[in-house]
Amino acid sequence: MMEGKIGMVSLVGAGPGDPGFMTVKGLKRLRSCDAVVYDHLAAEIFLEEVKEGCLKLYVGKQSGRHYKKQEEINGLLTELAKEGRRVVRLKGGDPFVFGRGGEEVTALFREGIPFEVIPGVTSAVAALETAGIPVTHRAVSRSFHVMTGHTMEEEDTLSLNFGELAKLSGTLVFLMGLGRLSLIINGLLEHGMSEATPGAVVENGTLPGQQVVRGTLKNLKELVEAKGIQTPAVIVVGETAALDFSSTALLPLKGARVAVTGTGFLTRKLRKRLQEDGAFTECVLSMEIKTRRGGQEMKTVYEGLKDYDWIVFTSANGVREFFSGLMEQGLDLRSLGHVCFATVGAGTAKELGRYGFHTDYTPREFCVCSLADGLKEMVKEGERVLIPRSAGGSRELNEKLNEAGIWYDDVILYQVVRTSAAEGELPESLGKADYVTFGSGTCVDAFFEEAGEKGLKLLESVRVVCIGSITAGRLLKHGRKADVTAETFTADGLAKAICSDWKGRGRETVV
Ligand code: SAH
Repeated sequence: MMEGKIGMVSLVGAGPGDPGFMTVKGLKRLRSCDAVVYDHLAAEIFLEEVKEGCLKLYVGKQSGRHYKKQEEINGLLTELAKEGRRVVRLKGGDPFVFGRGGEEVTALFREGIPFEVIPGVTSAVAALETAGIPVTHRAVSRSFHVMTGHTMEEEDTLSLNFGELAKLSGTLVFLMGLGRLSLIINGLLEHGMSEATPGAVVENGTLPGQQVVRGTLKNLKELVEAKGIQTPAVIVVGETAALDFSSTALLPLKGARVAVTGTGFLTRKLRKRLQEDGAFTECVLSMEIKTRRGGQEMKTVYEGLKDYDWIVFTSANGVREFFSGLMEQGLDLRSLGHVCFATVGAGTAKELGRYGFHTDYTPREFCVCSLADGLKEMVKEGERVLIPRSAGGSRELNEKLNEAGIWYDDVILYQVVRTSAAEGELPESLGKADYVTFGSGTCVDAFFEEAGEKGLKLLESVRVVCIGSITAGRLLKHGRKADVTAETFTADGLAKAICSDWKGRGRETVV
């Protein structure tokens, strides 16, 4: 944010639902903006892309309250830009396809605020295409026409439009029309369209909950009701609705819903990986790192690094925080040349590698007890060990080291705290999910704290996946056995474990 300087607004199309359909340019703006104003549910995953300190303002529907009025949104965008912010106005699909983007742009123009529009993949095309229905097809449909089913309330405009529409030979696409499906069908039939004309309705196109109903103008309404189709849905009428070009390459996690808990770093990686495999993901409990790397305790540690012989890392977060703090203290890797490193698992070792160090010891089994056992063997008498880690870390390591008579400093480098950034309400999200993942013992505790007595009940119908045996152990303390425990302590390991479980349960197969 630049005081005294006017900012700008980027209207960004977020695509039809699957986050993979965001444009590269849109994502770039998201990553650099100072404020994001959003309302589309499927866009929530994009909030994880914004930088620290970016304002996140929701202007959509809230239970028990009204939508923010369009004028209020226009006012908000203007205000944010006048404060010098680079604002991203995130909109479902494309900003100008019934997105009211024009009104926002007009308001910005009037106020002299610089703006740009970044197009998005519209549901009018994409929702149909992921359902296998092309909007045009050689020799079948040579045009497509996109309409809103929303303005067709007044009877006189209704008949006028249908007279025109029924004559068109191309594909007719109706957005926001599900509630008026009968009106649309009857309108077309009354104006001469044949009952045999193919039609289809696609709910939640591009998303894991996608549902498709195919029929003709004669039976479409009936089929839609029988299947219980809900909004958001696109209606398509025309010969291409009878075609089925849906993908024949099935992804390993197609159809799976995964509720994710954990810190931003892990959940981002995990969700990306799971989505690439075709799963629908939702963050149900979000944790964040509150660093203490600049605090007095850590300052003393950095100043006295020459006195330590070993540094033990119990998480990848710890590695990142430690090295960031090192640089901030004006030190660099040269102050660690004499040190041996131990890491609790593969993910932590890999993170250490990013800073240019191989680990000297990682136990075979991801568990602090094994780490302690290994250290007992490796740390020589008189050597000093530093354990920079999170508040509330497992005490087992300390107990074992005490037993072995190893001298160590256990220093709090960061805390993991709950944030309000979670997308769904726990009961609702877990009710629908096939899996819930726990990325740390702290997360398990936070879950039971949040869910209260209902915790175990909420986990009854969902398969629980833990990142490793420590996390699984913590879960067991709360009275629930993990269904799946990852062997490799990384986002990738978690994703692999879910994939093989999903496959083993007779779901989709990879081609
Ligand atoms: N600007 C958006 C459309 C906004 S109007 C775009 O370009 O896609 C909202 C309507 O879009 C919904 O009522 C529904 O008809 C349609 N829609 C949006 N996302 C959809 C999806 N994933 N599947 C089916 N229809 C969708």
